[in-house]
Amino acid sequence: MFNGKTKAITFSYDDCTVQDVRLAGLFNKYGVKATFNVNSELLGKKNELIRKGVRVCHDKLTEDQIARVYSGHEVACHSLTHPTLQDIEDDNEIVRQIEEDRKNLEKIVGYDICGMAYPNHGRDADRVADIIKSRTKIKYARTTNHSYNFDLQTDLLQFKPTVHHDDYDDLFRLAEEFLSLKTDEPKLFYIWGHSFEFDILNDWDKFEEFLKLISRRDDIFYGTNREVLLG
Ligand SMILES: [Zn+2]
Repeated sequence: MFNGKTKAITFSYDDCTVQDVRLAGLFNKYGVKATFNVNSELLGKKNELIRKGVRVCHDKLTEDQIARVYSGHEVACHSLTHPTLQDIEDDNEIVRQIEEDRKNLEKIVGYDICGMAYPNHGRDADRVADIIKSRTKIKYARTTNHSYNFDLQTDLLQFKPTVHHDDYDDLFRLAEEFLSLKTDEPKLFYIWGHSFEFDILNDWDKFEEFLKLISRRDDIFYGTNREVLLG
């Protein structure tokens, strides 16, 4: 149960780019809660990506923006520098990428951090998940493998989000299904992505339409990842 409710919705956004300012503003406007996954050694760095033939800004927020922009939400780890952890042979380096990121972020936000999202992707992560479990203070880690359902999961260290936001057909289909769902069992709708992706197709309005649809429902708890996964 989530604060006495059987249904919950949460969001997870990666990379800490400048578009998070606009996204957090939208989350605040609709009263929903998110978790933002941050690479602490990349803060303040300028970058540009080409996606779908479009040049898109991938500048990171600066350290002094973090606490303010993400106020009311959760900050979680995304590793120090965004390597694919599964490709790192040295276990100690995996621990360093996670634990040093966690400590840096705790200093910035002033609270305990217990979550992360795998950088790049979350495939073939059994070994990394074991390391996270035995050698870090991380309690949940989100992969990029989708579940397309609302069932609670037992393996929180290889957690599968329901759907990526830019899969709009599934996003809206799942939203309708979730909103009409009557359940005695706890059910979770978990959406993830990157805010810079809204600049690629300029589909901010479409995402706002989704937020309008799913927000302000009395039978749904809107919480951060930590609140919905760890209680
Ligand atoms: Zn990332």
